[in-house]
Amino acid sequence: MQLTVLGRYAPYPAPGGACSGYLIQNGETSIMLEAGNGSFSKLCKHIDFRRLAAVVVTHLHPDHYMDLFCLRHAIAAAIREEKRTGPLALFLPSQPEEEYQRLAQYTDAFIVNSIETLPKVELDNSIQVYRSRVGRLQLEFVPNYHPIPAYAVSIECERGRLVFSGDTARTRELEEIARGADLFLCEASGLDKDIEFVRSGHLTARQAGELAKKAGVRKLVITHLYPEYSINDLSTQASEGFGRAVVVAKEDAKYDLLK
Ligand SMILES: [Zn+2]
Ligand SMILES: [Zn+2]
Repeated sequence: MQLTVLGRYAPYPAPGGACSGYLIQNGETSIMLEAGNGSFSKLCKHIDFRRLAAVVVTHLHPDHYMDLFCLRHAIAAAIREEKRTGPLALFLPSQPEEEYQRLAQYTDAFIVNSIETLPKVELDNSIQVYRSRVGRLQLEFVPNYHPIPAYAVSIECERGRLVFSGDTARTRELEEIARGADLFLCEASGLDKDIEFVRSGHLTARQAGELAKKAGVRKLVITHLYPEYSINDLSTQASEGFGRAVVVAKEDAKYDLLK
């Protein structure tokens, strides 16, 4: 399984950059994870969008879903032009209602799966997950702590597991689902001085590192970066929290799960 970073910024992109967007590829299966501003353009540098199997959006904040509107037109046109056989599976929360309804009406492009309607399963560590499958990849969602309904997601293939935090403050669910992940892609929205600001639903770089350490992940990649901040400061504080070197997500870079 391979992760390609399409966009790493929030809540607005740096010049030439994009907001949250990731491409997950495993064999023939490709998933777009988040569709923030500018991420669709970046996606097209790496893959023919007509080949996507699914798109997963962790919550309905603009920096995570705005480019669904590009994708909708692109997919609908591809189906009309017989360059793609059917709509794209879209996983997303069913709230806020207005945003959800607006997207759910695009049945010419999407087969909508609201996360809350997926089968609920209790894991050995007593957390509950919503579970689904795309090709040979297993998806598991746990609720986050964020101003609107939001999820973290685990994506598992035969050979390993990637966990993405989405947007969230610290939760037990996130720590449990991240436990032992081969690659933990975690938001790092602030520096130490932002500790009060992030309380409402984000992590500082140091908190991301600390959480990853407690969860015993193999590799930590930090993302969801404020464009005004120094990459070096974010990296240093996350590494101090983690106790070893972290990777700062780089747009257009590819990360192999098992390397
Ligand atoms: Zn958010
Ligand atoms: Zn965000």
